[in-house]
Amino acid sequence: MIFSATDFDNHEMVIAFSDPAARLKGFIALHSTALGPAFGGCRMWPYTDEPSAIRDVLRLSRGMSYKNAMAGLAYGGGKAVIIGDARDDKTDALLEAFGRAVDRLGGAYITAEDVGISVDDMRVIAGLTEHVGGIPQPDGYRGGDPSPVTARGVFIGLSKTAETALGTPDLAGLTVAVQGVGSVGYNLCKLLHEAGAKLIVSDISATNLDRAVSEFGATVVTPDAFNSVDADILAPCALGGTLNKQSIPTIKAKAIAGAANNQLATETDGDRLQARGILYAPDYVINAGGIISVTAERDERATAASVANQLNGIAERLTDIYTHSETSGRPPHEVADEMAREIIREARAGPRQG
Ligand code: NAD
Repeated sequence: MIFSATDFDNHEMVIAFSDPAARLKGFIALHSTALGPAFGGCRMWPYTDEPSAIRDVLRLSRGMSYKNAMAGLAYGGGKAVIIGDARDDKTDALLEAFGRAVDRLGGAYITAEDVGISVDDMRVIAGLTEHVGGIPQPDGYRGGDPSPVTARGVFIGLSKTAETALGTPDLAGLTVAVQGVGSVGYNLCKLLHEAGAKLIVSDISATNLDRAVSEFGATVVTPDAFNSVDADILAPCALGGTLNKQSIPTIKAKAIAGAANNQLATETDGDRLQARGILYAPDYVINAGGIISVTAERDERATAASVANQLNGIAERLTDIYTHSETSGRPPHEVADEMAREIIREARAGPRQG
């Protein structure tokens, strides 16, 4: 069931937790602690069955290992999933029971916000365990809601991607289409608007669309029309799996650079993008701003300048990936996976002797 799951990747540990009185059930997966304690958010989602929840926690925790490694963080990859509907099933008792489950791991896993879990929820969880991130800090440049920092990192990575794909890091006059103008997408639009980019937006929330139109003069397209819009760059900031066999042949943009996790429906879709000459910024590299922000919260030496430096590292990583991709002829997603695995492998092997 776990060892034979498609997404099992020699995870170090997979734990099921439950507390019937609090109606809590879920899983924590520690993919790798080679670089440090496993850090990754907690997702609350109404999974239809246990295998779906296990699949998600295995896939997401491995993604966190790669994301943390590529962001140069001294943290491994882990993730938690709680089975339930965040709108109806989330209670303080459930969050406290989850906090106790995290605490029992003694710091091997550090949790934070993800889909269905808010900053306020993290505050409740923090009452039961010190192994949490995503709590607002008075200095304002780290901790708390990671979305604005994620957006800043995506903006930096998008400029680098524009430079590689279009020959200019200057976004003034370029058209960027942003799919999903929620927490990250809205903040990204703001930065793009300030940089002089023209914006096309798509969302299923009329409220979020209205905000982007009134504040940034964005043009709206329907979700169905998004992938084939006339834009220079697409920034997926809503769901995963939007780059697939059906959508890729219709894309007119020259590059993809957005925040959404798991944008490629399958690995083959990364090859498809390359075959069409569309430059893809690997999602876990470009969207690392949030984890940079929440990990900085636990680092007493972190300063606004050190966080900004780490965010600029996103552009450096992308440059490395694009250069390797160009010289080897292999697609960026494959190059990034290999780089991440190599960083983890070296950490696992320990410091070199002699
Ligand atoms: P969010 O829920 O605040 O925003 C998502 C937006 O997408 C919402 O406005 C929603 O209405 C819209 N949406 C949903 N379905 C859509 C569709 N079919 N077409 C167009 N729009 C649609 O989420 P968020 O925190 O902004 O995260 C966005 C993406 O970025 C997610 O994939 C998330 O996993 C990823 N991500 C977020 C962070 C972070 O710091 N929040 C960090 C890393 C990755």
